[in-house]
Amino acid sequence: MSQHQARKRFGQNFLTDESVVESIVRAVDPARGDTVVEIGPGLSALTRPLLERLDHLTAVEIDRDLAARLRKQFDESRLTVVEADALTVDFSQFGGALRVVGNLPYNISSPLLFHLMTWADHVRDQHFMLQREVIDRMVAQPGSGDFSRLSVMLQSRYRMHKLFDVPPEAFDPPPKVVSAIVRMVPLPAERLRPVSERAFETVVARAFSQRRKMLRRVLADWAPQVPWEALDILPTARAEDISVDRYIRLSDALVEAGLLQAG
Ligand code: SAM
Repeated sequence: MSQHQARKRFGQNFLTDESVVESIVRAVDPARGDTVVEIGPGLSALTRPLLERLDHLTAVEIDRDLAARLRKQFDESRLTVVEADALTVDFSQFGGALRVVGNLPYNISSPLLFHLMTWADHVRDQHFMLQREVIDRMVAQPGSGDFSRLSVMLQSRYRMHKLFDVPPEAFDPPPKVVSAIVRMVPLPAERLRPVSERAFETVVARAFSQRRKMLRRVLADWAPQVPWEALDILPTARAEDISVDRYIRLSDALVEAGLLQAG
């Protein structure tokens, strides 16, 4: 088959290291009847070994040439190629208990993670290759310099583990950054949930808009009506010091005080 010229605009860095491919497939540990959706199959580095262990796989690929290539390479009874931008895909169409896998295009990693969060009820787990720096932020704990809006929002919805690093030499062309693999498992329905997702998003975004400042200063207009002591938030606390559960309780308190709208 003809050579494919890697397209930068689609974040194309193709995995070529077989031992890394094996480690990823081992981490996913697919079983025959699993419903697996791969995002960005590219030249099929993960697609092929996944298909060896599955009855069927769905792959979402934005690049028309790569989608056509995949359709030629694999029987449609085994591989369904959805030629689409994963950022606009309704993942509920693939069913429930989805296992989502992908060596993701790094240029859209945050929007894609947020898009997938809207479908988390349909997901059993997600295994992604991303820029290591992004994964460090995803899994960071309060008090760490990496603890950010991304950490709080994703940890409110998933349990996450960083699995292993992948060096640039494992790809063609090699990216400029070190990569890593993360496992994300949606938290159960009985998790602590904000009364209003919108209010929660607003509070977290505002808090981290000035992460070095004390939270009471950043939220100065709301501060007098916040029950800081009941929430167990110290006067000197900054955005990066506050746990996910406290952010949820803070946003609920703001809704209760009528400072943010429910819904
Ligand atoms: N999975 C392959 C591998 O491991 O070698 C390719 C990984 S490459 C980093 C990212 C892949 O995602 C490319 O195939 C690219 O065309 C595709 N892609 C980029 N943006 C996309 C989008 N918005 N929706 C779906 N696929 C996308």
